[in-house]
Amino acid sequence: MTDEYVPPEVTVAGPGEPEVAVVGGIHGDEPSGVRAVERLREADLDLQRGAAFVVANPAAVAADRRFLDSDLNRVFPGDPDGDREHRLADELCDVLDSLVTLSIHGTHSCPEPFALVHRSQPAEYELASKLPVRHVVDHSGVNEGTVTSCGCVVEIEVGIQGTDAAAAAAERQALAFLRRVGALPGSPPRSSPRFYHMTGAVPKPIGADAELYVENFELVPRGTVFARVDDQDLVAEDDFYPVLMSECGYADIFGYEARKLGDSLRKIEASWLAEA
Ligand SMILES: [Zn+2]
Repeated sequence: MTDEYVPPEVTVAGPGEPEVAVVGGIHGDEPSGVRAVERLREADLDLQRGAAFVVANPAAVAADRRFLDSDLNRVFPGDPDGDREHRLADELCDVLDSLVTLSIHGTHSCPEPFALVHRSQPAEYELASKLPVRHVVDHSGVNEGTVTSCGCVVEIEVGIQGTDAAAAAAERQALAFLRRVGALPGSPPRSSPRFYHMTGAVPKPIGADAELYVENFELVPRGTVFARVDDQDLVAEDDFYPVLMSECGYADIFGYEARKLGDSLRKIEASWLAEA
């Protein structure tokens, strides 16, 4: 393998300058988003607005690796003089800064699509509330340096990575997004998701024999044994909702814990104003 820098692959379609974007391949080992972007490029879409279809990290996609030098989704806004992912982040931010964007990921943990947003971009809450998902997670304060901090970018986790179901869900979500933002005619499915705020990672000792007993987005009451590591039970110190939790998705964590913010965007915004 060479250390050559491969820039993001950006295809522009529809009338005028791009106003919306669909991004796949932020992580090179998550093919569903890349497939969705390729299908959108090939499809004969009746686009009403200019759109950019982007494969974020083509070299990592070709290598089937999450990243080459640094996790791209932790280094935004990037650095034009940095390693390959820092350079990609810098270029992607330039492209996406003024667009409304859906970025597609696959997971190890959750077969059902859900959205990720960042509180620094309140428009992402609004957009995510209108996408066909049941759950929206704000990851600000826990996962920073993600693409969601770079313009109005909502991320979607479409399901178990590499499966046909995830690829089909990726395409459905991309089309629903394009309809929702008026880039395609027709109305997308309705939804009324619940909102959560990620509060921290749930550690897992590296190399441990780990078992997980809980489901993502199902309340884990305080005192529950939620996992076993080698021969030790892990007990919830407080109520939490598991997010992106799996036995094997990450080397050193099971995933994340979150608290529920509710299902009323107005009330959530009112609570921000009260905090401010
Ligand atoms: Zn990903």
